[in-house]
Amino acid sequence: MPDGSSPAQPTLRDAPSRDATLRGAGALIQAGLADEADRAALDAVEARYAIAIPAALQALIAHRDDPIGRQFIPHPDELLTAPHEHPDPIADEALSPIPGIVHRYPDRALLKPILACPVYCRYCFRREQVGPDGGLLGPAETDAALAWLAARPAIREVILTGGEPLMLSPRRLGELVERLAAIPHLDLLRVHTRLPVAEPARLTEALAGALAKFPRGIWFVVHVNHARELTEQTIESLRRVQAHGIPVLAQSVLLRGVNDSVGALENLFRTLLAARVKPYYLHQLDAAPGTARFHVPIAEGRALLTALRGRISGLAWPTYVLDIPGGHGKVPVGPDYLAEPGRVIDPSGRSHALAGGPGRHALAGGPGGHALAGLPDSHALAGLPPAG
Ligand code: SF4
Repeated sequence: MPDGSSPAQPTLRDAPSRDATLRGAGALIQAGLADEADRAALDAVEARYAIAIPAALQALIAHRDDPIGRQFIPHPDELLTAPHEHPDPIADEALSPIPGIVHRYPDRALLKPILACPVYCRYCFRREQVGPDGGLLGPAETDAALAWLAARPAIREVILTGGEPLMLSPRRLGELVERLAAIPHLDLLRVHTRLPVAEPARLTEALAGALAKFPRGIWFVVHVNHARELTEQTIESLRRVQAHGIPVLAQSVLLRGVNDSVGALENLFRTLLAARVKPYYLHQLDAAPGTARFHVPIAEGRALLTALRGRISGLAWPTYVLDIPGGHGKVPVGPDYLAEPGRVIDPSGRSHALAGGPGRHALAGGPGGHALAGLPDSHALAGLPPAG
């Protein structure tokens, strides 16, 4: 369907009221979001991966397999691990010098103050690490992480991620931001979050104000995969951040049955722009265990973006990126338009000669490269150890 929805299925409107976060197979069955027949399989999923669906997201689920339900309702297929899937697909663990820090690029580092989330997305690449019990950095670990950053002047940017960094209280978040602000070589703070979609009411003025304590560059990146996630409450929560002069970007994951159509992506990107949010990245799915049902081949992703070129504003077009398995970094994999030496393709697919000829505009092959292996057009790397 043009908006990415699946064909009509029985509605869950008559199910019991859903006003609290649902956790676990029993709660899902009671709420009408899972079948009793799947209880044993879902108990096994729950034993391995955290489950939580807060009220704001329950309200968006019209039926279990719609673009919202698919993202958050656990499925028995999560127990199946494909050969190319990996518990740490982009080598966060291998690239973590101390708890809470991941260092993949020379000029930036991730800081993960907490590994709990308000919702657990079924395709999450950190699904083996995140969970409700998890990963709140203690005072000594926080001190060590900040000291590690302070000792490395080459690091200019910190990306606050998790888990969900905005699960911290305004006081704790404010203190952390102030301590980051006190490191003079940090020009830039980026915040990666799902909270405005999962629990918009929790993104209070106090929480937004805590972020604003960073006096230099700060960018807020919200994770949104479908236009329906941008409810009035979500947009209001983003306004509270924007009111502090903090620019808001979006990152999305290309997901089968969620946003794998031209109509769904167009609607998502247009809705984001209308909410003053710039689509930043469209991610190729990382190959975490039990996520194969969400996989969209890269060739299909490129075709979707090609179909959108010229149809939507250039502002609406995100960079389509792949995190190369094994921790080798993120690269654009979207369509290119210098398809052959000396020629360029226009948005409708017609080829044009470039002034200057092939020698001037030819694309040269770079050294090295990574072979793609596993499922057709999947992105598991064969035979390469994690970088570290
Ligand atoms: S909110 Fe982010 S970190 Fe948490 S489960 Fe979803 S994708 Fe993973």
